[in-house]
Amino acid sequence: MVKILVTGGAGFIGSHLVDGYIAHGHRVVVIDNLSHGRRRQVHPRATFYKTDIRNGPALRRILQRERPTVVNHHAALSTVVASMRAPQLTLAHNVMGTAELLQALSAFKIQKFIFASTGGTIYGNTRQLPTPETAPLEPISMYALSKQMGEELVRYYAKIYHWPYVILRYGNVFGIRQDPHGEASVVAIFSELLAHGRPVTFFGDGTKTRDYVYIEDVVEANRLAIRQGHDHILNIGRGRQISDLTVYQTIQEYFPKVQAPRYQPIRPGEVLHGALRCAAAQRVLGWKARWTFAAGVHNYLTRMYAL
Ligand code: NAD
Repeated sequence: MVKILVTGGAGFIGSHLVDGYIAHGHRVVVIDNLSHGRRRQVHPRATFYKTDIRNGPALRRILQRERPTVVNHHAALSTVVASMRAPQLTLAHNVMGTAELLQALSAFKIQKFIFASTGGTIYGNTRQLPTPETAPLEPISMYALSKQMGEELVRYYAKIYHWPYVILRYGNVFGIRQDPHGEASVVAIFSELLAHGRPVTFFGDGTKTRDYVYIEDVVEANRLAIRQGHDHILNIGRGRQISDLTVYQTIQEYFPKVQAPRYQPIRPGEVLHGALRCAAAQRVLGWKARWTFAAGVHNYLTRMYAL
């Protein structure tokens, strides 16, 4: 059993990771500035620090005190649309924040650094679908570029300070605690609107696709990454393209009272299609997504809306 520092551990994915690690007997320390996360989502047995990852001296004090063995870095501004509106802010949190964390860690010895990156946006509008990790990185949003820069920082520090690392490039993760009022999570947003009989808005004509992966599968990948994987970059998805229209139709089956959808142009920075080749995660971690999209949606709606 190890002590794991989870940055962003009050957010959607991070809070699930914390729960999963604690359930497996690990000790967990959380750093989150609560800009988007919620204190009540943090497991009561985790040690919580309300701290910004851009604050190097505060990070050093926490590291000195807690001495984690594994660091799992999930704190970030995580929406494409917001990154196009305020690119400097995304750079400050995702690139400079990551650099501050890595620099603070340079004075300590860790056994693994895990970094949450993006498979859904980092390859841009690639024609290789499903996309392998070896495909060229072609970001078309500041969010995607900030994650590419984050990956480079992680690889640099890991090499200089001899930390094994695993970079996980997620598809579109969905599950409970995801913000249904934000701009990123189509499943959560569509569910909230349809549950209340309100019309959904498609950005584009509904044919845009994403590789949806359920939160439980992502938690499992992060659990395995503690021990498996030595300097690997791994896609984490299901390898299937799911269109906006399919998301809509799948959720609509649960909420029959429906108004006609609305249509808006695709927003700047958004890629058109996505599906990730995940053979490397299976080889390196022994990981494979277990939840189908339909099963994930069913579980999500059942828990979220007590259906
Ligand atoms: P989220 O917004 O729910 O979680 C991010 C957390 O980081 C929040 O709790 C927020 O308060 C915290 N945070 C932000 N800036 C911070 C800072 N400067 N200092 C300290 N804490 C800070 O988002 P999420 O969907 O859970 O994403 C978690 C990670 O996974 C992010 O790095 C994101 O880029 C990555 N990711 C998410 C998805 C997805 O589909 N949700 C896909 C690919 C990658």
